[in-house]
Amino acid sequence: MLPTSKDELVYLLGLKDSQSRNELIQKAYQQKVNTLGNTVYLRGLIEFSNICYKDCYYCGIRKSNIKVNRYLMTIDEILNSAKWAFDKGYGSIVLQCGERKDKNFINFIESILNSISIQTSNEFRVTLSCGEQTKETYKRWFDAGAARYLLRIESSNKRIYESLHPQNHSYNNRVACLNFLKEIGYQVGTGIMIGLPNQMLEDLASDIIFFNSIEADMIGMGPYIPHSDTPIFPAEIQIVRNKIELYNLSLKMIALTRITIPKINIAAATAFQALYPFGREQAILSGANVFMPNISEAKYRNNYRLYENKPCVGENTFECFECVENRIKGIGESIAYFENGDSRLFYERVNKSISS
Ligand code: SAH
Ligand code: SF4
Repeated sequence: MLPTSKDELVYLLGLKDSQSRNELIQKAYQQKVNTLGNTVYLRGLIEFSNICYKDCYYCGIRKSNIKVNRYLMTIDEILNSAKWAFDKGYGSIVLQCGERKDKNFINFIESILNSISIQTSNEFRVTLSCGEQTKETYKRWFDAGAARYLLRIESSNKRIYESLHPQNHSYNNRVACLNFLKEIGYQVGTGIMIGLPNQMLEDLASDIIFFNSIEADMIGMGPYIPHSDTPIFPAEIQIVRNKIELYNLSLKMIALTRITIPKINIAAATAFQALYPFGREQAILSGANVFMPNISEAKYRNNYRLYENKPCVGENTFECFECVENRIKGIGESIAYFENGDSRLFYERVNKSISS
């Protein structure tokens, strides 16, 4: 039976005994295998800049953290990383950064997208994760070749959202941006952090309902991991106090999202691995179907710490490549090389609208 009501979601999120939790997780994994097969899509993650003009209270690279060494990878470095992923058969990359809205930045992204489109004859899916922009900017980047955009709502509860951000960061604008992206034709990804201060199970249930109501194609979500150079460290009123509890709750969120929206793409967020060494594999075994190996230049990784204990910062791209292969094989899944891994949900929606 699918959990259709909010009450049911709250009940399942609250399951405490390991047997019922394991049953839920196995059911979600079976749903993934039945709907999408035993394969995992790769997205090479390029964290190309940590320069950010926002000040989110939870994030290690927020503008006010003066301890961070700021960087912007060069166009050549970004293109080399993209080319490497393309040649290896990754099928897709994610370009992620802090938020900037200035003309130079907008042009910079546009020219990277144009170059990647030419280099790969439009055979490569590029996801952007560059924060809130105007509709015009999103459209320019879409026209230059970006097909997907990841913008987490962080929490669909406006009150919680506001408690995590300064007053000039607007929840309504975040939602408006998600709508712009949808209208333009992007595959839209959103997501949340789990275990935020004051976040209740009801809020998490509402988050899953939110993913469904905005017709998200992709989900990126993971545990909230405090960073000591941010204003909400130590998290004062964190409902989930213990690491294991946070980990299990985060896996249940993956499982219930898979069961509720079977054809959606769900990423096994790196933050899972920050809690537990095999956290990302366990996320796949709970229903996620996307893995995002870090392919940023090794020399920059240490400066892109959104949260503490971030894994893979001391490795280079090749080490990550081998490690990812072993991790996926180790759980009996295979990597869908040379496939772009569009969300099934998106694919079917677009084809339905073409044929009707
Ligand atoms: N600047 C862009 C993209 C980079 S931040 C944006 O904000 O959309 C990417 C994601 O990192 C955020 O959406 C947030 O959910 C996550 N993140 C930031 N700080 C975190 C923390 N302390 N723990 C877990 N995830 C965090
Ligand atoms: Fe900047 Fe994104 Fe971090 Fe907010 S979450 S401070 S926008 S990088």
